Amino acid sequence: MSIATNLLAIQDRVADAAATAGRPVSDIQLVAVSKTVDRDMVEAAYAAGVRHFGENRVQDMRQKFEQSVGPGSVVHLIGHLQTNKARDAVRYCSIVESVDRISLVDALQKRCEVDDSTLEILLQINIAEEEQKYGCDPGNAAELLDHALAQDRLTVRGLMTIAPLVDDVEETRPVFRGLRELRDTLQESRPSAELSQLSMGMTNDYWIAIEEGATMIRLGRAIFQG
Ligand SMILES: *Cc1c(COP(=O)(O)O)cnc(C)c1O
Repeated sequence: MSIATNLLAIQDRVADAAATAGRPVSDIQLVAVSKTVDRDMVEAAYAAGVRHFGENRVQDMRQKFEQSVGPGSVVHLIGHLQTNKARDAVRYCSIVESVDRISLVDALQKRCEVDDSTLEILLQINIAEEEQKYGCDPGNAAELLDHALAQDRLTVRGLMTIAPLVDDVEETRPVFRGLRELRDTLQESRPSAELSQLSMGMTNDYWIAIEEGATMIRLGRAIFQG
C-alpha cells in the first residue's frame, strides 16, 4: 500500500467528478480520516501532501494531534461529541464537523470563552433520517443554525452529513442533493451567514458527493488501505 499512489487515484476521481459537475477541483478539500491508523501513518500522509485530517474520537485526536503534524495541518473532529469533551475538542481541533444539538453549541461556546479561543463548526444533519444515527433532523436545522449563528466564538461554515450504507451507490445521490438544497434554503434566508461548506462523501461515494456539491470529502480507506 502506498499513500502517494492512493492519493493519485483519488485526485483522478475527484477531477473526473468535478469536471462532470463543471466545478473547479480547488473547491474540494480532501480530509484524510485517520481514525484507524497511528501517528506514523498520519506523518506519512502529511509527507505525501495531506494537510487536513479527521478523527472520530476526542481521545484519538488528542493522542495523535496534540503535537502538530507540521505547518498547515488542520484537524477536523468528525465523530459524535459529548458535551463533557468540549474542552479537548476546542483545544485539539480547528473544526468540529459533528455539531448536531443546541446543548453542544452551548458547551463549545462556553469552552471557547474560557480558553479565549474560537472554533469553526459544521452542523451535522441526518438527511436520510435514519434511526440510531447522530445528526440534527432536517426539520430542526434552522433552529440549530440560528442558535449557533448567535454565538460569538463559533463560526458556522456549513453542513455535514453521512450517507447511509447502500447496495447501489447511486442511492446516496438524493441524500447529498438534499444536504445541498437544505444549505441553499438556509443560506437564502440568512444572507449574512457564510454556509459555503458541504462536508459529504466518504470512500464508497465521494464522487457522487462531488457531483452534488461537496466541498469537503472525508476519506479513510481510500487513502490508508490499499
Ligand atoms: C470513518 C468515517 C469516514 C471515512 O470513512 P471511509 O469509508 O473509510 O472513507 C468519514 N466520515 C466519518 C464521519 C467517519 O466516521
